[in-house]
Amino acid sequence: MDDPSSVPTPPETPTVPPQKKDTAAELERLSCLIIHAHNERDFEFQGADTQELQAHISPQWKGEIDTGGPRDRPITWEEQTSAWKQRAEEHPDVRFDIRHVSSQVNERSGVAKVYMEMEVSGIGGVTLHAMNELRWRKVERLWLLHYTLDGPTKMKFQYTQLQRGSIRLVRFSQYCTPSFIHVWMEHLPDFRKDTSPYNVLSYSPDDPKYEDLKSIMLNGRSFMVPSTVHEALSAIVEHHRTNEGYWIDRVSINCGDPAERTEQLALMPTIFSHADRVLVWLGPEDDQTEAAFKAMRERAAHCPYPSLEECNAGGEHRVVSSEQEQNAMKSLLARDYFQKAGIRPDVFQKRNGHLICGRFMCEVGLFVHYQRTSVGPSEAAEPGSVL
Ligand SMILES: [Zn+2]
Repeated sequence: MDDPSSVPTPPETPTVPPQKKDTAAELERLSCLIIHAHNERDFEFQGADTQELQAHISPQWKGEIDTGGPRDRPITWEEQTSAWKQRAEEHPDVRFDIRHVSSQVNERSGVAKVYMEMEVSGIGGVTLHAMNELRWRKVERLWLLHYTLDGPTKMKFQYTQLQRGSIRLVRFSQYCTPSFIHVWMEHLPDFRKDTSPYNVLSYSPDDPKYEDLKSIMLNGRSFMVPSTVHEALSAIVEHHRTNEGYWIDRVSINCGDPAERTEQLALMPTIFSHADRVLVWLGPEDDQTEAAFKAMRERAAHCPYPSLEECNAGGEHRVVSSEQEQNAMKSLLARDYFQKAGIRPDVFQKRNGHLICGRFMCEVGLFVHYQRTSVGPSEAAEPGSVL
């Protein structure tokens, strides 16, 4: 590169070099060709478009691109392509789908980074998320790919040391979609004194889907969560608020650190009671859900007491539910959260509890109110009626 101090300054220096945007687009396009070559099983880069890419791979390239690491050292380009080939033979259906590409280009110093977020399918029954960072360098007039990091390389940075009395909050990335959950971690130091609002996600660990794991992107790399948690996160992204912090035990606690785990489990009642909202995930909606939420809202709207809290604290009115309402509520109460986990008193006795079922959400108080004012025989024996 030219030393900028030795060249005369042009009379009008544009603040953004005109070619910058083009370079970014070009490097993003070339980076995506790597994934294209992989999906096409073109490991020798012989295709017309991938031959072009081959000319941009530095002879000194090292790193790792989605070989299923982690490895103890960066590998050579030859080792990289043979690792892909071997994996494609072992998993004939393996495929990468690019979900998002972004880049940072510094034209003047001739360095650039391209970030690619991908979904990887065809390895077992799960969809994995992968994130790559491809580093480019301009040599003479040609951009060369000289180094690549992939998700597993960054594994050790996923959790950082949590100070005593602090909690980790999950924050959604702006690139999240219901099928591509990408979150970041944020520490909330001394959360008992902090007034920053956060939500807690509560769910049933007895759900059979709990054992079935799905991957999300956590701090830039794949992280496995129970499908129940994945479902809840998808619903939040699709229907609810994503600009707030969430405390989710399976993600917020570093289970690889026994001391932290013990401390966090002991703090759980406080984490729940300090939360702005405790969201009880009941599962995706079904054809009865809308009617159930409507019944709870209508019952509350017709309550003769000045407030639901007052009515719930000992109100005497009773309402006969219609058969349709009874069926809808029965279906809601049949969900795992009520059946197996039992009703958590810390959620149902506090005012911050909310039930979420797919796109529907309501305060727990509405549910408690419906249950205690109903005289339908089918509800009398349900667990909710004890409240
Ligand atoms: Zn009432």
